Amino acid sequence: MAEKMVSVKMITEDFNLKGEDYAHEKELHLDFTHLQKINSIGLRSFILFLKSIPATTQIKYHHCSPLFVHMFNIVDGLLPTNVEIKSLYIPYFCPTCQNDYTFEAQAPFNKASLHEVRQCPDDGAQLELFYSENTFFKFLKA
Ligand SMILES: [Zn+2]
Repeated sequence: MAEKMVSVKMITEDFNLKGEDYAHEKELHLDFTHLQKINSIGLRSFILFLKSIPATTQIKYHHCSPLFVHMFNIVDGLLPTNVEIKSLYIPYFCPTCQNDYTFEAQAPFNKASLHEVRQCPDDGAQLELFYSENTFFKFLKA
């Protein structure tokens, strides 16, 4: 059986995944590459969706945007114990050209992931973190 990869584009009132559709999956892979919008109604629906999936189903998050990662830090219920984050985007800015960049990091995550040296693709300057490690990776448990 192929892995089930489901693209999540909206976490708004348009969020329409149903836990019962995935109740028999051993693993559920959620792809947030095209996630465009998040609001509180959507987050509530998304958390109910997570709760409706059996704890024995492993849920993997892929390509989490900085905005979605920010939600991990401020909203309870987005990272139940059966969720594993596989990859996420870390935001940086360039002190020389002032542009913002995001780089994808793969699990496992730790604060060291943030300190890999990243260079500006335009001018080669060393990029700086957009958020402090304790802000961005607050959701990591010790
Ligand atoms: Zn630059």
